[in-house]
Amino acid sequence: MDCLNAMASPSLDSARAADAAIEKAPDFQPALLPGRPPSLVGLTRDALKAQLIGMGVPERESRMRAGQIWHWVNFRGATDFAEMTNVGKALKAQLAEHFTLERPEVASRQVSRDGTRKWLLRMAPTNPQEHNRGAEIECVYIPGPDRGTLCVSSQVGCTLTCSFCHTGTQRLVRNLSAAEIVQQLVTARDELGDWPGQMPSRDAGGSGEVGRLVTNIVFMGMGEPLYNLDAVVDAVGVMSDQEGLALSRRRITVSTSGVVPQIPRLGEQANAMLAISLHAVRDDLRNELVPLNRKYPIAELLAACRAYPGLSNARRITFEYVMLKGVNDSDADARELVRLLKGIPAKINLIPFNPWPGSRYECSDWDRIEHFSEIVFNAGYASPVRTPRGRDILAACGQLKSETEKLRARARMMQEEGIGVEGFYAGADD
Ligand code: SAH
Ligand code: SF4
Repeated sequence: MDCLNAMASPSLDSARAADAAIEKAPDFQPALLPGRPPSLVGLTRDALKAQLIGMGVPERESRMRAGQIWHWVNFRGATDFAEMTNVGKALKAQLAEHFTLERPEVASRQVSRDGTRKWLLRMAPTNPQEHNRGAEIECVYIPGPDRGTLCVSSQVGCTLTCSFCHTGTQRLVRNLSAAEIVQQLVTARDELGDWPGQMPSRDAGGSGEVGRLVTNIVFMGMGEPLYNLDAVVDAVGVMSDQEGLALSRRRITVSTSGVVPQIPRLGEQANAMLAISLHAVRDDLRNELVPLNRKYPIAELLAACRAYPGLSNARRITFEYVMLKGVNDSDADARELVRLLKGIPAKINLIPFNPWPGSRYECSDWDRIEHFSEIVFNAGYASPVRTPRGRDILAACGQLKSETEKLRARARMMQEEGIGVEGFYAGADD
């Protein structure tokens, strides 16, 4: 598929094909390459227990053993079985023979001037076609004064073709496994020194005191999480296990372009916060911006939102609205937005459009965004304008991954020139 053509004519077919993927995409099983022992990092408790039983741990012991290993892997961030002091020597040796505690390889690290960090993560290869080079995804950490947000990916690329989004132009698409999603958080904690007992470095945005840097997760990286819902549900379960990675489900937000039939399950099974990529208030325009709208139009999407389990003023739905100059940013659009959302406990997040090479939109002028925001605010909604973060390292919304090839080439060049990637990007112009 030609990426640019696909972008220029987002078709009903693409929405249909993507929709068929809900039923058809098989759950992805990681690390099945012969001769490569699987990693235990990111597995659910049940999967961990099953692996131990498969290795020969008696069933009656398996729960207790899985609990011990769980603690080391998910609470302490152990990287070596030798650290597991309460696990017997023989079992440790057996574990080391059958499994690893490998994380994805960090293929590149970039730090923005504003402290945002972006990691290019290379997953373990999973089939011979990958030629021993696993899929690559990007993961972004955004430090803030009272929280640290990790933006994770749920798929490699995306089958949808929203016309303003760079990720949708990528050819290679596959679901990530639950473990691969969790491993993004584990790797971020490794990189930031964000495990209990470690001293997070000040330059990672930490206070230098022991505490958690990553406090929030948003599924706003690459991919449509609701096309990979089983894995997302399992990943949210692992990330929020209070004896492990211990994030609060209320601090985990899953963003969707509007896969209506999957929305109730997200609420019931993941109990996560919901964000909707709305971006337009009329079906004709939304059909163009978010082609999936042809299948699930605005009225159906909002009906699913009204019925979202656990909704209250303390648990609001976030509506994302990308500001596109002359396209969706008029006063009339703002008033219609307010009218549409009436009665839904909502936050409205205005996102300045992040341009990418070849994109056909421009970001609305600042005055226009302010005016739009004022109308929304006067109607009683907090309407923060999301400050673009990490633009200099292409880490902002919708800029992910597709620059990877280029960045890698540049990074290699920098290395050859003896200049660190971080130094280069930290000093790069917007
Ligand atoms: N696929 C999911 C989640 C990933 S996209 C979804 O669409 O919701 C995360 C957010 O970034 C979405 O709201 C998406 O619409 C927005 N986005 C995509 N491209 C963008 C761009 N170029 N500028 C600003 N926001 C963008
Ligand atoms: Fe996919 Fe979301 Fe990008 Fe649309 S905005 S192409 S759903 S990642």
